Amino acid sequence: MANQNAVVVGGGVCGLVASLLLRKRGYDVVLLEQASQLGGLFCSIKDSSGAAYDMGSHIPNATGIQELDEILFKNADDATTWNRISKLCSGNYFAGDWDLSSPFPDARKLPNDLYSQGCGELIGLNQIPQSEFIYQYCLESLGVVFTESIVAPILRKLYGKGVDLAGLTMEAGLFGFTRILALPADVTASLKSLPAFDSKLGYQTEQDFLRRKKQDNLQDVEYFYPVNGQGIGHWVAELQQQVEQAGIEIITSEMVSKICHTGQKVTSLELGSNRVLACDLLFWSAPPFIALNAMGLTPKRGKVELRTAVIYHINFDKPLLDTKSHYLWVWDDKTDIFRLTLYPNLNQQSTHNHLSAEILCAADEVSEYSLERIIDELKAMHVVADDAQVISHEQQAINNTFPVPTQEFKQLNQANYELLNASVDNLIISGRYSGRCWRQAEVLVDAFESINKL
Ligand SMILES: Cc1cc2nc3c(=O)[nH]c(=O)nc-3n(C[C@H](O)[C@H](O)[C@H](O)COP(=O)(O)OP(=O)(O)OC[C@H]3O[C@@H](n4cnc5c(N)ncnc54)[C@H](O)[C@@H]3O)c2cc1C
Repeated sequence: MANQNAVVVGGGVCGLVASLLLRKRGYDVVLLEQASQLGGLFCSIKDSSGAAYDMGSHIPNATGIQELDEILFKNADDATTWNRISKLCSGNYFAGDWDLSSPFPDARKLPNDLYSQGCGELIGLNQIPQSEFIYQYCLESLGVVFTESIVAPILRKLYGKGVDLAGLTMEAGLFGFTRILALPADVTASLKSLPAFDSKLGYQTEQDFLRRKKQDNLQDVEYFYPVNGQGIGHWVAELQQQVEQAGIEIITSEMVSKICHTGQKVTSLELGSNRVLACDLLFWSAPPFIALNAMGLTPKRGKVELRTAVIYHINFDKPLLDTKSHYLWVWDDKTDIFRLTLYPNLNQQSTHNHLSAEILCAADEVSEYSLERIIDELKAMHVVADDAQVISHEQQAINNTFPVPTQEFKQLNQANYELLNASVDNLIISGRYSGRCWRQAEVLVDAFESINKL
């Protein structure tokens, strides 16, 4: 009997891995990507000096699922390809100062009167808030003073000065700043035995954190970064090679124009080039509204605000001053940058002194940023020496890639996901666009579990 045909739409890591899993389960698979190359948000570029930079997502981690991890990091033991990172080092810049031992903003850097007032409030709030909205949640968890002086400025920096703070859902805090450092380290360590304090305070010493990790029996998460100078694009290249070796057809620079279905079953897909793909199973990792349109159904529409990611990739003539951190959060509201990636710390074999600085803004604000402005910020934060010169650089803007997380956005996503899901039976909706998961490992585990339910 002939194999069943599966079409995987979207050639990001979700689609790449899904196509391999489906092939392993006996399907003849076609992988369809609208862009000219695979990888989605995981891709790298090189500047004129040959320094490689990643576009936004860059430090993948193992999932703990053997079948999946064997696909993801096939040559994991090859030290000429991979740096295996057992502890991801991240610090943060807040109130004009670095803390390279914790990603959480430190309330003790606030003016004394604010700090004392904030601590008084924080101590008295001993219930876990139930709100789905981040601002209200923080008011009930951290109190007014810390919410106004720490969280609100970060939210405005990420989601825009005019953002309606009260309308942002908890997803707005996915970078982790709803937990802060406050109070003496030993007081924090004992308060964290209470759930309401555990969720709002970060440990201040590594020993405290490790003790807790052991107590909770938390497994180590292993991260991977290529050391062959190709950036994370190498990961995608390896996955693509596996896809090709598995006999999966890859079609790039093409889109679905029509999804043909009989009753509850997708039967074929028509492409822009008029080619028709037979389809017994459709794995969809592109935005659901595109599938609904292609099926002749009307997607639910609404106001969705999207942020553009602007990334400055810069290679200096002098070593970066932080030789430990893999990436850094910049919570200080006087800087535009919100995250830095320090490549020499991810790849010790690197011969470059290069970093990526990420900014989130509205699409029409991109021109407000300049290389000079970013270099000034980096020097003011002592990320590079005052006399460091730029050897080479690149700049990217990923337009409208990051949704402002509002209830309306969540409901819209949910409605389109449900409408699509209910329309046909031989369909899997997965990937970051499904709205059910966002981080790389979550996305891949979701795809794996969906395919295993077949
Ligand atoms: C700014 C930013 C920073 C991030 N940082 C992190 C991080 O630090 N850690 C982390 O774990 N995750 C991070 N993520 C999330 C991470 O990027 C996702 O988990 C991952 O990219 C999900 O893979 P995906 O394949 O679902 O989506 P994508 O990588 O977006 O891939 C989707 C693919 O579908 C294609 N496509 C879209 N429409 C169509 C169509 N109609 N037809 C065919 N193809 C189509 C796209 O071109 C793309 O190639 C970040 C995301 C963003 C936006």
